[in-house]
Amino acid sequence: MSAALEPLDRDRILAELSDVARAELSRLEVYPTLDSTNAYLLAGAGAGWPGGAVCLAEQQTAGRGRQGRSWLTPFGAGLALSLLWRFQTPPEALSGLSLATGIAVARALRNSAVSEVGLKWPNDVRWRERKLGGILLESGGVPGMFHVVAGIGLNVALSPQDAAPIDQPWVDLQEILGAAPVARNRLAAELIGELIAVYLRFQKEGFPGFAEEWARFDRVRGRRVRLQLPNATVAGIARGVDATGALLLETEDGRISPYLGGEISLRVEP
Ligand code: ATP
Repeated sequence: MSAALEPLDRDRILAELSDVARAELSRLEVYPTLDSTNAYLLAGAGAGWPGGAVCLAEQQTAGRGRQGRSWLTPFGAGLALSLLWRFQTPPEALSGLSLATGIAVARALRNSAVSEVGLKWPNDVRWRERKLGGILLESGGVPGMFHVVAGIGLNVALSPQDAAPIDQPWVDLQEILGAAPVARNRLAAELIGELIAVYLRFQKEGFPGFAEEWARFDRVRGRRVRLQLPNATVAGIARGVDATGALLLETEDGRISPYLGGEISLRVEP
């Protein structure tokens, strides 16, 4: 860990939390190392932990990305944070939750003086054209007792050596913010606060409550993109999202069709 970076500290995070977040938080755990913060909370969910549980780790040894990809979290180089939330609504009502999670992260970054934060559908956190963070939602449970674990990975100060395995353009907060050391505990509290605020509102309003805000962070609208589907690829122009969070793609024949699903990857055409 670089000397300029503050170690994660449970008490400091708690002290920085908003009142609403503190009231909703059922547990807050900070570990030096976990295999995956999501795996840890999914196990907790299985053991009956209530929603509102948050865990952070200085390092993940098997951090997860979407579709079996991995998320690199070298010790002290970023923030790896997961939140467990329980929903009474059926899973279908949670369409768009992964986009709303991106909005929470983008808000937390904006509140922390990070300008030019954008989102690439469904939930890539980007600064200019580079990947600053990733989000992975995993879920489980039975009807009436459905749970979601939202995992957030953000790069704070990643050394080029540590980042060598990353196979796409990336960026960290240290580069964006310049010399000022990043207050990781305050940023963790911001993230927890915005995640909880977004999840409370999502319970009531679903994705329609966030559609307008999504448009403000959407960095692919109007651009030529390619969607990698499980068995096919489609190209077209991104036209924003619909009320379920599905990407609207305009194909060459002028038709606009919605695409939704955890197995779709979007690439912006150069
Ligand atoms: P998608 O757009 O489908 O989400 P993705 O490849 O960006 O595609 P994610 O699951 O969001 O998928 O993230 C995993 C990918 O992110 C890895 O395959 C790697 O390319 C990249 N990656 C892994 N660790 C980091 C990191 N710390 N910072 C930036 N990028 C990373």
